[in-house]
Amino acid sequence: MTETLSARAILDRLVAFPTVSRDSNLELVDWVEQYLAGFGVSSRRVYDATGKKAALYANVGPEVEGGVVLSGHTDVVPVDGQDWSTDPFTVVEKDGRLYGRGTCDMKGFDALALAMVPYALERRVARPLQIALSYDEEVGCIGAPPMIDDMVQHLPRAASAVIGEPTMLRPVTGHNASVMFRIHVKGYEVHSSKLPQGVSAVHEAGRILNWVNEINDRIQAIEPDPVSALFDPPFTTCHVGMIQGGTAHNITAKDCHLNVGFRCPAGDDPERYASELSAFLDDLHVRLAARHPKAGIDYDRNFGVPGLKPESEGRAEGLIRQLTGDNGTHVVTYGTEAGQFQERGYSAVVCGPGDISQAHQPDEWIAVDQFEKGEALLRRVVDTLV
Ligand SMILES: [Zn+2]
Repeated sequence: MTETLSARAILDRLVAFPTVSRDSNLELVDWVEQYLAGFGVSSRRVYDATGKKAALYANVGPEVEGGVVLSGHTDVVPVDGQDWSTDPFTVVEKDGRLYGRGTCDMKGFDALALAMVPYALERRVARPLQIALSYDEEVGCIGAPPMIDDMVQHLPRAASAVIGEPTMLRPVTGHNASVMFRIHVKGYEVHSSKLPQGVSAVHEAGRILNWVNEINDRIQAIEPDPVSALFDPPFTTCHVGMIQGGTAHNITAKDCHLNVGFRCPAGDDPERYASELSAFLDDLHVRLAARHPKAGIDYDRNFGVPGLKPESEGRAEGLIRQLTGDNGTHVVTYGTEAGQFQERGYSAVVCGPGDISQAHQPDEWIAVDQFEKGEALLRRVVDTLV
């Protein structure tokens, strides 16, 4: 039997693994697997294609339906170029705060979830506590879908999934969906005095910018649906954050690269815009290729995160509302893995300790008070399983 570590001691261990999304998380996964095995809890890994990262999940208690999933991600954002006052991969407690990369987003919650394992066993829960830890959340929620698919196959279905992103322990029942396109406009280079013989990738990218402006005008002219009305802004936005192209004032640009992103409130469907943009790009490609065989459009959909739709009488939401007494309406405009759980048939809610404004920052921290309140809340979650 493993010695029972405090949540705080587990947090120290988790933060010490520098699991920046681009790097392997396997050392952390090894540690968690051994920690769980120490309590006689077996776990399953779901590897990524490279074999350098894995998600891990476990069922604590009887293998029956109706349990609760506590879900977190193991990866953290980089610290490169950030000015930290302390070592980001060592938890430092100061003035009622725990500093360290991931303390807030979201190894704090991961540590609390793992600290519930011996408690759930001690309480002899009648329905299981399930722990689910993903990878690559910070680079577009890539790791959770294969993990959840595997859980659906191998575990009895849980009644609720609590995704512990920082919400100050408020039940968040809706979040945005997002879709991102990475586009490469390929032109044909000639001296600009011969403009009609060339194809300017920059000029052609301008047509895509026009499309973006037009779709924003069109969307914003429509009355928002009741679910979208909960969000701010209450409509889908389409945004080009980056554009890069051309080499000189007198050469038709050979290349232009841009990203087009959609952010949709949970009442709207990102697919309709994604398919419309795809059709526009396919058509533009044909027109460019007709002008010169080297010209055209390459694009990929970089990632897409489904939104979390407020459920009517949702089990997960009900669980957290009952335990916190918070009956307010809370939606957020960032994406989480909650929409991916919901898409696979789980009732899902986002609720975790800490403030999202601390996430991704230099000197990231979580308040000791939030961490302790988070632990108390999760104990009550376990108590509902007895
Ligand atoms: Zn996060």
